[in-house]
Amino acid sequence: MAVTIIIPTPLRQFAGGQSEIEVEAATAGEALEKLTTTHADLKKHLYNDAGVLRNFVNVYVGDEDIRDLDGLETAVKGGSEILIVPSIAGGNLAAEARATNDLPNLSNEEIARYSRHLILPEVGLEGQRKLKAARVLMIGTGGLGSPLGLYLAAAGIGTLGLVDFDVVDESNLQRQIIHGTKDVGRPKIASAKDRLNDINPNVKIEAFETMLTRENALELFKDYDVIVDGTDNFQTRYLVNDACVLTGKPNVYGSIFRFEGQASVFWAEKGACYRCLYPEPPPPGLVPSCAEGGVLGVLPGIVGTIQANEVIKVILGAEGILLNRLLLFDAWKMKFRELKLKKNPDCPICGTNPTIKELIDYEAFCGLNQPTETSVLEEITATELNDLIKTNSEVQIIDVREPFEVEIAKIPQTKLIPLGEVVKRAKEIDSSRTAIIHCKAGGRSAKAIAALKENGFTGKLINLKGGITAWSDEIDSSVPKY
Ligand code: ZN
Repeated sequence: MAVTIIIPTPLRQFAGGQSEIEVEAATAGEALEKLTTTHADLKKHLYNDAGVLRNFVNVYVGDEDIRDLDGLETAVKGGSEILIVPSIAGGNLAAEARATNDLPNLSNEEIARYSRHLILPEVGLEGQRKLKAARVLMIGTGGLGSPLGLYLAAAGIGTLGLVDFDVVDESNLQRQIIHGTKDVGRPKIASAKDRLNDINPNVKIEAFETMLTRENALELFKDYDVIVDGTDNFQTRYLVNDACVLTGKPNVYGSIFRFEGQASVFWAEKGACYRCLYPEPPPPGLVPSCAEGGVLGVLPGIVGTIQANEVIKVILGAEGILLNRLLLFDAWKMKFRELKLKKNPDCPICGTNPTIKELIDYEAFCGLNQPTETSVLEEITATELNDLIKTNSEVQIIDVREPFEVEIAKIPQTKLIPLGEVVKRAKEIDSSRTAIIHCKAGGRSAKAIAALKENGFTGKLINLKGGITAWSDEIDSSVPKY
């Protein structure tokens, strides 16, 4: 019976360059025997001296491993396919590439380091030199910035700019893999710089320990070729987009929430920008932040790595970048989807008659600095609350977090009413007595107080400043911080 043997790329040089070879055989073993008889050079790659299949060579009949069937005795039907799947990962090609290429602008150390790029025709020497010449600015060195920075440094991007003003916190380590336990308390910029220098000392790191603002964004962006958006809030996201459009830079975008991620390349000169997709942000409070909503630690690893991939392709001038395409990823269902994007001719910044010609007030645009009830919010510190409890055991404390958060940490004598239910369940709060409202860090409890007042609650409401985190810091360190 005629069966087809599929020869893997590394072994084709021992099979006359063929990718498929047809033989007559009744079993897998017989097929391989005939193959190695007609192509003797293959024999030592497939079998050891005792004539046993080497353990790094797997053989499949159809989609099944013959070890799960009858081994070499596995019967084959006419027309079936036998796949040889070696677990080898290439090896000698790098040396060939070195010998045949003229590499004036990469040192010997760099040639060795980037050899797996140099032997890819799509990158090659010219591409690697482009990467070395490239200047990439990363906004944020957190969840997305971690894999981004690690891979871009490893890939040999010549200059990496980092913008971050945050400090490494223990709760970052579940996903921000550029930072380590020893870095807790250090500025993220310093920690990231150390790690990136260790991965690749050839990369020049330009660190900006600052918040990205409308005052510094254009000046910062103009010296870079590609901007990567690894931010976690809408005001910075619109700022990054607008500054990219105004300076003509590509904006490699990624965002994450819980289990879902998005990625795209926004490049107004060639296609859609972020505002073409989302002209306006959601109202504040509608979409919780990662700090409130949680995020699967692996998710930014996947999305940030997709961004790194696109940054490299943009620099190499590759076809098939995520331009005018929005990639949606659901890590829980393990599904990728892709939506087509179109440049919006009415886009307020990249359309035909733009109304935004310079950077604006992004806090106001995202509805963040409007005067609200929080401006007259009455607050109490954790220490004051503790003193109050000592003198008055009947203090009314309302916890507006979610039930799973209460399982992690709680303050004694509290009643749980999650933020989403607080208006509906307002009558469960005794309006004749003062109520202390608390959450994790004080933000959601302030929202709860504003919502209750807006809906006519008349009792006295006081916000616990810093939430249960402050309680842990000031009163009871056995209450875990999360
Ligand atoms: Zn646009």
